[in-house]
Parts: sequence; structure tokens; C-alpha cells
Amino acid sequence: MKLTALGVWGGYPTQDAGTTSYLLQSESGFNLLLDAGSRAVTELEKELLPTCLDAVIVSHYHEDHIADLGVLRQYRQLYPLGKNGWDGKLLPIYGHAENAYEFSKLTLEGVSEGRAIDVVHGTKIGPFDVSFQKTVHPVVNYAMRLVEPKTGQVLVYTGDTGYYADLSAFSGGADVLLADVYFLKDKEKMPNHLASHEAGRIAREAKVKHLILTHLSQTVDLEKLQEEAQEAAGNEVKVSLASPHQKWQI
Ligand SMILES: [Zn+2]
Ligand SMILES: [Zn+2]
Repeated sequence: MKLTALGVWGGYPTQDAGTTSYLLQSESGFNLLLDAGSRAVTELEKELLPTCLDAVIVSHYHEDHIADLGVLRQYRQLYPLGKNGWDGKLLPIYGHAENAYEFSKLTLEGVSEGRAIDVVHGTKIGPFDVSFQKTVHPVVNYAMRLVEPKTGQVLVYTGDTGYYADLSAFSGGADVLLADVYFLKDKEKMPNHLASHEAGRIAREAKVKHLILTHLSQTVDLEKLQEEAQEAAGNEVKVSLASPHQKWQI
């Protein structure tokens, strides 16, 4: 599978870069959008036509993760039928159903269909088997473990989370851990996001191959964030900072 960062800021977009959104593409050509933060549509357009998306999954309903869902739907609603092969197909948007109001907004008749994730048994989305774990956050957020059975490749995406011990087991053996790392190590056990050394520790305990730091803060020294995470992760784990349009073959 191939992962492309579209937006990597937490909270709000700034200058010419947006908030949390990633494109995950399978070997078979399935295009899944992970979260749809601010600017997701325009950044996605630089990679592929938004009409080519096969599904979207959102970790939770904070604005920096869903800001562009509405305009993504309007893009597909208004795009001329037949142009570039556009057939007007429905867009499945997966999210948790623990907030009935937010979940109901995923559906726009004729354009998109909200689908509740099965947080107990997991959910199959195209070629991906996805399992979930509730994280530490002020609103309900699910970390997701996406497995591509055909290749055995595993991506774990935290969505938003503070530190909790079970995240290591959930991330066990992943090829890539894409983690919300918003704080330097002068903070810890925050109720909303991970600190650098906490993400590094989880990556080391989980024996992941590659830790990618994302959901970045506009006010933090990012070089220091990476150094602190690497120090905690140890030499066995590669640690990278996400940036828009960076791509990783998982
Ligand atoms: Zn966020
Ligand atoms: Zn959040």
C-alpha cells in the first residue's frame, strides 16, 4: 500500500498547508481517504481526481479532521457526469456512530452514504481489513489498524490521542505507525495528544518499523520533536516528520 500525506497540521491550517488528511492506496488501486481536514480536497486534487476516491474513513468529528467533507461531497455532486469517466457513484464515508448528529451528517442523498464502523469485530473497506481501538481524547476517537491481507502490510493511524499503554499492543508489528504527536517531552499524559517521547516509546514497545509524526503543532520546534521521538524510539525504529505530498511505500 502507498500512503500520501495531504495535510499534517493539527488544529488549523496555516499559510499554504492544511490539517489532517491522508490518501491510502492499495496494490489493487483502491483509493481511501483517511480523515478530511481543511484543504483536503485541493491537496487531493494534486494527487488524483476527488471523483476517483472509493471511500473515506474519519477517526472522529473534530473540525481539523472533517472540515472538507462537505466540499468533497459537493465536488462529486457538481462534477459533470461522463467527464473523465465520472459515473456519479456513491461515496461511502465510514465513521463511528457514537455521536448520532455527526454520524447523520456523513450521508448526503445520492452523493454519500454514512457507514458505521464495527468497533468490536472490525470493518472491511475495499481491500483493507480495519480494526479499531478507542483512544484518549476529549471526544470519541478511534485509532485504526489497516491491514492489506494480499500483501500483509499494516498501517496504524492513531487519529487523535493522548498517551495510554494499550496503544502499544494495538500498534504491534505495524510497518508504519502514523501518530498524532503534538507536544514536546516537557508535557506528558495529556488528555488530547501525544508528546514526542510517548510516541517514541509506543513505537519501540510495538516494534513498528517506521514512526511518522503528524498532526503537528504550529508552535513547536519540529526538529526537536523528531529528535525526542527518535531518542525514545531507539535505533530500531525509523522516525520521520510528515509533510504535505510526502509519499511512503509501506
Ligand atoms: Zn485533531
Ligand atoms: Zn481531535
